Amino acid sequence: MPKVYLDSVSTTSINPEILKTYEKLLADHFYNGDSLYDDGVTVYLLQEKARENIAELLKVKKDDLIFTSGASESNNLAIKGIAMANPDRKHIISSVYEHSSVYNSLEQLRRIGGYEITYIYPDKNGIIDPKKVKNALRNDTLLVSIMHVNNEIGAINDINAIKKIVKNNSATYFHTDATQSLGKIDIDLKDIDLASFSAHKIHGLKGSGLLYKRQHIKIEPLISGGQQEYGLRGGTSNAPANIVLAKTIRLALDDQKSNYDRISKLYDHCLAELKKIDGVCINSPSDGIRTIINFSTSIPSEVLLNALNLRGIMISSRSTCGSRINEPSRVLTSMGIADDRAVRISFDGSNRLEEIHYFIESLKEILQKYG
Ligand code: PMP
Repeated sequence: MPKVYLDSVSTTSINPEILKTYEKLLADHFYNGDSLYDDGVTVYLLQEKARENIAELLKVKKDDLIFTSGASESNNLAIKGIAMANPDRKHIISSVYEHSSVYNSLEQLRRIGGYEITYIYPDKNGIIDPKKVKNALRNDTLLVSIMHVNNEIGAINDINAIKKIVKNNSATYFHTDATQSLGKIDIDLKDIDLASFSAHKIHGLKGSGLLYKRQHIKIEPLISGGQQEYGLRGGTSNAPANIVLAKTIRLALDDQKSNYDRISKLYDHCLAELKKIDGVCINSPSDGIRTIINFSTSIPSEVLLNALNLRGIMISSRSTCGSRINEPSRVLTSMGIADDRAVRISFDGSNRLEEIHYFIESLKEILQKYG
C-alpha cells in the first residue's frame, strides 16, 4: 500500500541535507557557546553567523532575531513578553481564528492579567478585514496580532494593509504569526514589530524557531535566566539547531518560487477534481494559499480520516495542535462552517501528481461506501 502524506501544514519531513549538517554540528560542536575557551567561542561565533545570515535572508537586522523552540514559543514570547513590559495598556486586538499558541496566550492574559481582547471575525472568504482592525483600535491598544496565513483554511491576510493601519497609531505594536507563509509566499517585515516562524514547517528541525522582534521594542523574557538571546530566553543555547536554521531558511527561500509553482499545479488539479465530486464543498477561499485545501463532505470527518488512513493517506480534520481536544474548531465555526464534516489536505513540493490521483480515487470510493 502506498503512503501518501497530505499534511505538510502539520509538519514536514526533514531535508536530508539539513539532517546531515545538523548531525555534524551535534557531533563536532557540542560545546556551550557561552564558554570562554576556543571551542566554546567557535560555537558562539557559528551561531551569531547563522543569525546574521538569517537576518540577511529576511532583510532585517541581526539583533532583531531571537532563536526559540518554534512558533508556539515565539507567539507566547511576543504576546506575553510585550504585555509584561507594558502593564499600563491592557487592550489587545487579534482574530478569532489564530493558532492556539496565540489564542491561548491572549486568553491567559485576559483571565489572569485583566486584559481586554477584541477578537475580529473573518469575512466569508476567511479574511480579516483591515478596516475592522482600524475600527477596533483604541488609545490603550498595546498590540495587534493577526496571522499571515491561516493554517486551517489557508486564507491569506493583507498584513501590509494591517501594518499600515497599526503604524498610523504609533503607540500600538503589530505582531504576525508567519508560520505558514515562510518559504511559500513573500513576507515583507518592514514596519512589522514582531513575527513568529518555525523550522519544521519548511523541512527543518522540530523544536526550532525564531521570533523577529525589532530591537528597540521592550519585552520581558518568559524563561528568566542568563545572558542568552539578549537576556530574553535563558538556558544553554540549542546552538546546533540555531545554526542549521540558517540553512533551512536559505533552502526554503532559494526554492520558494519553483516549489510554489509545483505546489500550485497540484493544488489546481486537486481542486478541480474535488469540485467534480458530488457532495464535496470547498471551504478554502479561492485566493488562499496553494498549500491548503479545506473541504467538507457528506460523511463525518472522523470516518473519512480513518478510511483514508486505512489506505495509507494522511490528512487532518483541523489544526493538529487541537486534534485531541473535543471542542469545535474556532476557525471553521467563526466562518459558519460545520466542522464535524470538514477536513484539510495540504501540499508540499515533495508531493507528486500520482499521489493526488490516488487520494481522489480513494475519496470517491469512500464517499460511495459511507455517503
Ligand atoms: N502557528 C501556526 C499558524 C501553525 O500552523 C503552527 C503549527 N501548527 C504553529 C503556530 C506552532 O508551531 P510550532 O509547532 O513550531 O510550535
